[in-house]
Amino acid sequence: MQYINGEWCQATTGKTYPVYNPATGEVIEQIARGGKEEGNLAIDAAKNALPSWSKKTAKERAFYLKTVSEKLRERIDHLATIITTEMGKPIAEAKGEVNLAADYLEWYAEEGKRIYGDTIPSSSETKRIIVLRQPVGVVAAITPWNFPIAMLARKIAPALAAGCTVVLKPAESTPLTAIEVMKIFHEVGLPKGVLNLVHGEAAPIGEAMMERQEVRKITFTGSTKVGKELAAKAAATMKKISMELGGHAPFIIFEDADLEKAAEGVIASKFRNAGQTCICTNRIYVQRTIAERFSEILVTKMDKLVVGNGLQPEVTIGPLINEAAVAKTEDHISDSVKKGAKVVYGGKKPTGEVYKKGHFYEPTILLHATHEMKIATEETFGPVAPIFEFDTEEEALQFANDTSYGLAAYFYTKDVSRVFRMSEKLEYGIIGINDPVPTTAQAPFGGVKESGVGREGGRYGLEDYLEYKFLSLELEL
Ligand code: NAP
Repeated sequence: MQYINGEWCQATTGKTYPVYNPATGEVIEQIARGGKEEGNLAIDAAKNALPSWSKKTAKERAFYLKTVSEKLRERIDHLATIITTEMGKPIAEAKGEVNLAADYLEWYAEEGKRIYGDTIPSSSETKRIIVLRQPVGVVAAITPWNFPIAMLARKIAPALAAGCTVVLKPAESTPLTAIEVMKIFHEVGLPKGVLNLVHGEAAPIGEAMMERQEVRKITFTGSTKVGKELAAKAAATMKKISMELGGHAPFIIFEDADLEKAAEGVIASKFRNAGQTCICTNRIYVQRTIAERFSEILVTKMDKLVVGNGLQPEVTIGPLINEAAVAKTEDHISDSVKKGAKVVYGGKKPTGEVYKKGHFYEPTILLHATHEMKIATEETFGPVAPIFEFDTEEEALQFANDTSYGLAAYFYTKDVSRVFRMSEKLEYGIIGINDPVPTTAQAPFGGVKESGVGREGGRYGLEDYLEYKFLSLELEL
């Protein structure tokens, strides 16, 4: 059900669409197929709610965020089950995601109280300069399916904390988690119109969001292709934009690294969410002197990965989101093999009754990857780890930066000078140094180059929802 102006509603056309479980192929629920009309109604509601919401004190706004955060933690099992059922990730990862969402809400409940302005020394004796921070206004938020709760929390929390009102459009395949979150905001008494949910047809809903002058900011997480289209449309009404887009993360292992830890790191970074994360490793670069040893260690650790329905507690790799994702994974592997790569682990769909109806693929390791392969430049979004080799630090850096993406990069070393040399030269927004899972509520998440514009998380994440207003006051002294 959609949630507009504090009320639950079907699509005005009465149309619905099915939400599938990617592990079983079963329809979980038929839900409203909203479109442009619902988009416009939601924007009207957000516009009407803006004056009273933005006037509330930060403490009043924090109450809602804090209370919802607590309720997410209380209902973690229920929410995680919905996430796993609609998008497939293992239940333990889904629980981790619910906690991350709760962290964002909690963090911004506090940080909203620290939206400070400035007073600036004037160059005239009689003038005073004051800078106010004010909410940008109505925010349109569009989120992807791979983190159905964390991505929406990372947008809603700073927007509401800043005094903005929001229209949210989740991904077509994962609206059920968003509906559950709306139910909790409703339950805690969030004033009507402050937060609205529309799901259904992406392009018409997006059109309403882009065309309406009252929408002053678009915050989008998804593919670089759609992000570019939306950014171009946002220019027509000069909306502020935040774009969290695709990535192509290098994971560099130097010969002085702890190889056991590096192999664990590769598994955590590459195979989390079956390789369907924007910051997951796409290219593993191993220094030639240790390449063979490292690959052997990595392969021995792969057996602990268990493919299956994410609701089973022992499963660590769930299904991919749909058959197109499986086809892309297969295409990247066959293209790599044709160009000289060798499959040393996995490399096929798992067989057996339990896998028949879901979109499963075995975790896979490729050796002898080269930059001529598709996998070296395109986001796979599947469980394939290609291993490249390099000789020197300069070469590793050059390979790592040779991409139009710039979201996350990782490297493993014990040399502190190298830590700084590499960190300062890697063209990425997030660098994990001996750390495969850097995301946290208090740090700025986001990319450079074609991976995006803006940052989410920490105090930086509030900036995008605020405007500066400069007051110049002439006094009689
Ligand atoms: P996507 O196809 O770009 O979709 C993302 C969202 O945009 C969905 O809600 C989608 O709706 C919507 N959308 C698509 N076309 C639209 C249009 N014309 N107007 C308005 N909305 C539109 O991406 P995805 O496949 O869901 O997500 C995977 C991508 O997200 C990967 O590239 C990944 O790297 C990236 N990602 C980035 C971050 C980050 O923080 N940088 C985090 C997570 C994921 P429908 O689902 O209804 O089509």
